Amino acid sequence: MNTQTFQETSLSEIQNILQNQKKFFSQGKTIDYSFRLQQLKLLKHVIKAHETEILEALKSDLKKSEFEGYATEVGFTYEELNHAIIHLKSWMKPKTVWTPLTQFWAVSKIYPKPYGNSLIIAPWNYPFQLLFAPLIGAIAAGCTAVLKASELAPATSSIAKKLITQYFQPEYIALIEGGIETSQHLLEQKWDVIFFTGSTQVGKIVMQAAAKHLTPVILELGGKSPCIVDETAHLEFAARRIVWGKLVNAGQTCVAPDYLLVHESIKQPLVQKIIENIKKSYGNDPAQSPDYPRIINEKHFIRLTNYLKDGTVLYGGQHNIQTLYFAPTLLENVSPHSPVMQDEIFGPILPILTYQNLDEVIQFINERPKPLALYLYTNSTYNERKILNYTDSGGGCINDCLVHLAPQDLPFGGVGDSGIGNYHGKSSFQAFSHPRGILKKTNLFDIPIRYAPYLNKLKLLKFFMK
Ligand code: NAD
Repeated sequence: MNTQTFQETSLSEIQNILQNQKKFFSQGKTIDYSFRLQQLKLLKHVIKAHETEILEALKSDLKKSEFEGYATEVGFTYEELNHAIIHLKSWMKPKTVWTPLTQFWAVSKIYPKPYGNSLIIAPWNYPFQLLFAPLIGAIAAGCTAVLKASELAPATSSIAKKLITQYFQPEYIALIEGGIETSQHLLEQKWDVIFFTGSTQVGKIVMQAAAKHLTPVILELGGKSPCIVDETAHLEFAARRIVWGKLVNAGQTCVAPDYLLVHESIKQPLVQKIIENIKKSYGNDPAQSPDYPRIINEKHFIRLTNYLKDGTVLYGGQHNIQTLYFAPTLLENVSPHSPVMQDEIFGPILPILTYQNLDEVIQFINERPKPLALYLYTNSTYNERKILNYTDSGGGCINDCLVHLAPQDLPFGGVGDSGIGNYHGKSSFQAFSHPRGILKKTNLFDIPIRYAPYLNKLKLLKFFMK
């Protein structure tokens, strides 16, 4: 268990950093392509140089294996960095758009402009990636950044602080450690954009604070992501992929399949294959597996333990508060009204519900807050189209889970209760920029139709604007 403690950062220190960042931004240093490129490359160099320490910190906070830490945090961040480094120039280019004839002769262009001073607040579950992936967007867009790491992943917060302090000027990028009090001090300040990843509940607090200054927000929140398995699905692949997606980070993943909606005709064979795959990946006793992570702290551990009362344990259920080990657990006979079906589970418990026809599934999903992700395992294009047409979610996969985060060209974000705005790849650049629309008029001539006196010009106007 991680016993490191954290210290709050004082209001005056925060104000001081922001003042300096405002000054730095106003000097225009972040505007140049070459500056941004250099900073992105520096960030990659910094992470490469300290990769082992980062992976150790992830192990200390969450007992993440080196493989998982690399795949889902460090390697993922490299992919985002590489993509930004390759595409930065084209993202920054002004884009010419169509100009109506009424404005003859003029050219209209969209100039992506950095918002300015950004604040990035991260959660504990992917404490490295969720801090650094938004930072890539901020650097690419030409913003300054203050990062607030999660106090619940203190080892990662500490190494991130060390790297940012050692390699970046605080008037450009600073990392602030601390908990709720520090976060509140930060939210009292006037930022040009706030990028928040965390719970829906705290997302609302962030948005309220931002509203006081009319600050735009990107809110990457959570929720219950349904996972549907229909009667045509490839059961072996479905089981294997669901087990992986649910148990990566011991289920403490914002886009983890939260619960299963399984066609009743295939429940038994699917459950059997899920159990087989849990054993294949983590053995008969996952507590002994070097690849199976732990629950972040006692509070979350106790919350998960209470969910065991909400159904019948079909498999797993073992837990040990001393080691924060919580076994992969399948639950059946779960009421949709029970806490395990009301809260985001955020742990290795998978409730299994059954259905008879897809309309029930659509109704079930649409009666609930819009999820961050939705997964469908099927071989039926009819079912696929039906689910995609008649439900909504931030994103999702057909015949897989979680991996819609991998392609940089897919925007990642929520909708409704699961968030506002999106990022990854170019979307990260756009999240920290605003599109400034500029029309440039010729000085060769000036068509006088728009000027008073209007006399009988209306007829002409109607010819062009009809
Ligand atoms: P959280 O909302 O409790 O905390 C997130 C951040 O907000 C932390 O840095 C914390 O210090 C700060 N914070 C907490 N309470 C605050 C308050 N009252 N006022 C101001 N700041 C406050 O979330 P968490 O427990 O760290 O993370 C888990 C949640 O994050 C889950 O709901 C999960 O789904 C969500 N999440 C979403 C994504 C995504 O990409 N959409 C990714 C990871 C996690």
